[in-house]
Amino acid sequence: MTVRHGREFLSIPGPTNVPDRVLSAMHRPAIDIYAGEMVDTTLSCLADLKPVFRTSGETYIYAANGHGAWEASLTNCLSRGEKVLVLECGVFAVVWGEMASFIGLEPEIMPSRPRRAVDPAALEERLRADTDGEIKAVMTVQIDTASGVVNDIPALRRAIDNAGHDALLLVDTIASLGCMTFEMDKWGVDVTVAGSQKGLMAPPGLSFVAANDKARERHKSADLVTRYWDWTLREGPEHYMKHCGTAPEHMLFGLRESLDMIAEEGLDNAIRRHTLLADATRVAVGGWAEGGAMEFNITEATERSNSVTTVRMEPEPAAAILDFCREQCGVVVGIAIGENLGGKGFRIAHMGHTNAPMVMGTLGAIETALIALDLPHGSGGLQSATACLGAALKV
Ligand SMILES: *Cc1c(COP(=O)(O)O)cnc(C)c1O
Repeated sequence: MTVRHGREFLSIPGPTNVPDRVLSAMHRPAIDIYAGEMVDTTLSCLADLKPVFRTSGETYIYAANGHGAWEASLTNCLSRGEKVLVLECGVFAVVWGEMASFIGLEPEIMPSRPRRAVDPAALEERLRADTDGEIKAVMTVQIDTASGVVNDIPALRRAIDNAGHDALLLVDTIASLGCMTFEMDKWGVDVTVAGSQKGLMAPPGLSFVAANDKARERHKSADLVTRYWDWTLREGPEHYMKHCGTAPEHMLFGLRESLDMIAEEGLDNAIRRHTLLADATRVAVGGWAEGGAMEFNITEATERSNSVTTVRMEPEPAAAILDFCREQCGVVVGIAIGENLGGKGFRIAHMGHTNAPMVMGTLGAIETALIALDLPHGSGGLQSATACLGAALKV
């Protein structure tokens, strides 16, 4: 017996659900890449990404996943042998740091406090000790999609400024842009990296970089620049070279539609929606956790992200919950990933094209699993999620 039927529901933290509007926008023939609509689409996407990043800097679109934008950010403003400081707080900053090492930079990992966000005081102290200014860039994520942590980017900026340090601030917003407040210019972020398939609701395959004047000045002397990622080439007038080749047409049609959807909803409204759905999720998880079998991975409540909630528990029951949700309820919940957390829990996505029935449905499936599998859990998790939403939306 199963209550699974019809479309499987994807509730993993990326790729996220692609709205039907975006899928439909992509379902069309290829068009001329040299003139007309395709040129306008590229230019309008580049322009309309700026208010999403909240920047007046330059934007670049790559036919690549997030790893591509990582590489673009490093190669465009750094030179071989330079030192970069990687702020560990889960998985993704460290993997970005491995990429830095591979391309000839010298990454230094600043270890995090266990299950916490990056400590701005530790960053300030490390930069103060760098009296010769050897560190050329600080690399961090706003949200780590594995640990579920959110970093305080303005506080990290202040730490750099307090130390009087000149390093560039590079921020990965792949799991946060469109989901949580991010103010590139106001916060003094020099380079921002994002991807299409999480908060931005488009299929995987495009990634984005935004750079301010300070980063573009460094670009002039950066010796790691390679042709495909090169900002200068892409800033030129020729449309073909804005993509260093054929425009990824259908990906751009999808992106165009998702940017329109963000504009229609309003970025602030989208961020508010994420906050409410994340709050509801956290209330449910907090209720279940009273049974003692699971806990939030991130120990500080204020450091839990609004796009993904990472739950820690023993591998066996975690796998049983994931299997039950998928096989019996048709909901795919995210596995726990990373060196410390791999298999030891699960991740609930509330990111991108997500709404109340999607999140309540996922929470309902998990609670059903907890009951069906007879796993210890506090009762009423789902009910407290509805109470939380009801209170927030009180008319
Ligand atoms: C998903 C993710 C990445 C990796 O993106 P890919 O598109 O898989 O290369 C990097 N950083 C963060 C924070 C992510 O969530």
